[in-house]
Amino acid sequence: MNAIILLGAPGSGKGTQAMRLAESLGLPHISTGVILRQAVADGTELGKVARDIMAAGRLVSDEIVLGIVDERIAAPDCGRGFILDGYPRNQAQARALAGVLSKRGATEWIANIDVPPEELTARVRGRRGTDGRQDDSEEAFCRRLEVYESESLPLLDYYGNRAVNISGLGSRDDVFGRLCAALPFAAARLVTPKLVAQ
Ligand code: AMP
Repeated sequence: MNAIILLGAPGSGKGTQAMRLAESLGLPHISTGVILRQAVADGTELGKVARDIMAAGRLVSDEIVLGIVDERIAAPDCGRGFILDGYPRNQAQARALAGVLSKRGATEWIANIDVPPEELTARVRGRRGTDGRQDDSEEAFCRRLEVYESESLPLLDYYGNRAVNISGLGSRDDVFGRLCAALPFAAARLVTPKLVAQ
């Protein structure tokens, strides 16, 4: 079982790349942000707890998000593996994830999509208001960036050379190409059908 973990700042394009990788590899895309936004939209108990925290750009508790991930990866469609997008977001979550994955005998593949802060700010100004995310007010975005820098950026030290660094600059296709090249089994799997077809 392959657990592909994508790291990156808000606005790094991580979600887009995660979806594309999931589609190409035929693996489920697990975004804790998407699951939480759905819970808010559905007005569930989880959604009620998460709503204000998300709107403020802060992190929902580690216990809640671990519960979401643990339950989701136990589903049958995750048997071959899955793409994690937005989890882990701090070292406590990374340690909890390592425990859950080792219980399931999963191999971790970690890729970080690297975009400089000034480019992130420019991108989010362009995106704000277009996809209806209520956590994309300028204030909330700045808060999310601060939280990313203080909580999530240290994950790069935590994972050390287990995380491959990918430049998130250039077109989506460029970034996707780099991502696949950095995940050896992904590159092999994406290339093989073309070779067979020739
Ligand atoms: P995202 O779509 O990944 O940017 O997540 C949107 C929001 O959901 C974040 O700003 C957090 O409030 C919450 N969230 C998503 N994933 C996590 C996580 N792993 N830990 C804590 N909060 C999270």
